[in-house]
Amino acid sequence: MRYSEYFIPTLKETPADAEVISHQLMLRAGMIRKLAAGIYNYLPLGLRSIRKVENIVREEMNRAGAIELLMPMVTPAELWQESGRWEKYGPELRRIKDRKEAEFCLGPTHEEVVTDIVRREVRSYRQMPLNLYQVQTKFRDEIRPRFGLMRGREFIMKDAYSFDVDSSAADISYDKMYQAYRRIFQRCGLNFRAVEADTGSIGGTASHEFMVLAESGEDAIVSCSACEYAANVEKAESPVKGGTEHAEPRPLEKVATPEKRTIEEVAEFLGVPKAAMVKTLVLSADGEPVVALLRGDHDLNEIKLQHLLGCDTLEMAGDEIVTKVTGAPVGFAGPVGLKVKIVADLAVQVLRNFVTGGNAKDLHLKNVNLDRDCHVGIFADIRNVVHGDPCPRCSGGTLEMWRGIEVGHVFKLGTRYSEALHATYLDADGKEQTVFMGCYGIGIGRTVAAAIEQNHDDNGIIFPLPIAPFHCIISALNMKEEAVKEASETIYQQLSEAGVEVLLDDRDERPGFKFKDADLIGIPLRIVVGSKNLADGKVELKERRSGEVSLLPIDEAVEKVKAAVAVAL
Ligand code: ATP
Ligand code: MG
Repeated sequence: MRYSEYFIPTLKETPADAEVISHQLMLRAGMIRKLAAGIYNYLPLGLRSIRKVENIVREEMNRAGAIELLMPMVTPAELWQESGRWEKYGPELRRIKDRKEAEFCLGPTHEEVVTDIVRREVRSYRQMPLNLYQVQTKFRDEIRPRFGLMRGREFIMKDAYSFDVDSSAADISYDKMYQAYRRIFQRCGLNFRAVEADTGSIGGTASHEFMVLAESGEDAIVSCSACEYAANVEKAESPVKGGTEHAEPRPLEKVATPEKRTIEEVAEFLGVPKAAMVKTLVLSADGEPVVALLRGDHDLNEIKLQHLLGCDTLEMAGDEIVTKVTGAPVGFAGPVGLKVKIVADLAVQVLRNFVTGGNAKDLHLKNVNLDRDCHVGIFADIRNVVHGDPCPRCSGGTLEMWRGIEVGHVFKLGTRYSEALHATYLDADGKEQTVFMGCYGIGIGRTVAAAIEQNHDDNGIIFPLPIAPFHCIISALNMKEEAVKEASETIYQQLSEAGVEVLLDDRDERPGFKFKDADLIGIPLRIVVGSKNLADGKVELKERRSGEVSLLPIDEAVEKVKAAVAVAL
């Protein structure tokens, strides 16, 4: 490709509305342009990277035995009504009507559609295992689209769905996908972790998320310092420690705490550690008030609590409800004397003589003991783990916290969808059985963005070679000079013939200008052709990542580039 004939609208300035570095660089490098909130044009350079990721994904899916098909983006409401998701899926599901007032939605995911195919076409156990995948545009009307391709409303996803005769066969399909995902993200050159994940609203029995480690990541994840355990904080657990259950219960005591509302304020005022206090949160679960008790230094994990309660919505109660439930203004809630359902975290179960709110203005209670003073309905793990907590899997390891970008997700669905949509088959004895499913997603655009988040410097993107839009850029310093033109064209031809993807910067621009663009768009290898070095038959080869420059005879430079590309792919 010749730069002068190509389309790379780079920007000098950092666009003001781009918060994270990958979004800034994708705009500046002319890879994407915003059309509307969360909806982007993929410009040629961006599209090339996207196709690279897609191809790696396709190769690994095919290698793992999955088969590509393509399902429509517009899908009929009836299927979603059958699965129950027409009602359950929130406003992210964009519902639309056609001219006959028939209802449809823009596919945010395709469990329903693919299950419909399978229930019609798969009759016998002999037709499984079956794994069908597509690379397709999805639409989710995200409440806060942001960070460019990282969280769009329209985005490209690879989604695969496995169908098996029983749970153990489904486990094998799941494991194949898990291994394929590891290979995919390794091949993309990413530093990632596979973590245990919450199974969420999609309904299923086990799942892992593939997280690219990055400070800007929206997810908090933990991993053990000693063993393989890694999990999303939404899911992560830790054995209870720091209990005081052997202490003698002391008499309950009222203490005045004028204007002291927060855990910090009360802890300081009374001179007790936060871990010797209990915070009392009033929430609304499907509109019903419920109280959660947590140790003062711990935070509520709303997802764990929501699963426990089995509710569709869970939110912090407003001031009015707090006052109605506790009889006190916000800041003085405590469990003693409450008439609503109380859920206490396991770390609270082992506390004695703790401090909590007194359910009256400017009042707290000391020496509260749950078994003596309150009626707790449920004890359960409802907190977020924190840095340094003990590992739940090994003895001696402690949990470390990371930020991550979720680029992929694998899921054991069990019979959640096959039961609802009656996807069955006949087993070897001719008996009707329900199909076991798994689903497996990768955000293609998000993967490119995550790669940039992990690979950049002050001058721009540093693409891992397998997903770079071009492998090599030839910066011809002055194409008007016959020798430079001739050498550049020869190198261009030799590399192209060898299968190297080359961008020939033949523009009539100053060298500094060309170098800036080359750095910005992040092409891994650069050959600089200038008349001075050419006089000795040499060119400069520069590696984008290390910045290493070597002055080489033309043939040698060409061979080096060919070899570097062959090794990386
Ligand atoms: P998130 O928690 O980030 O919203 P999700 O759990 O809803 O993601 P899945 O339904 O598992 O995501 O979708 C599979 C993959 O699709 C994700 O791992 C992610 O890479 C990608 N993806 C999901 N939502 C978006 C989005 N709004 N923009 C870009 N990619 C997305
Ligand atoms: Mg989502």
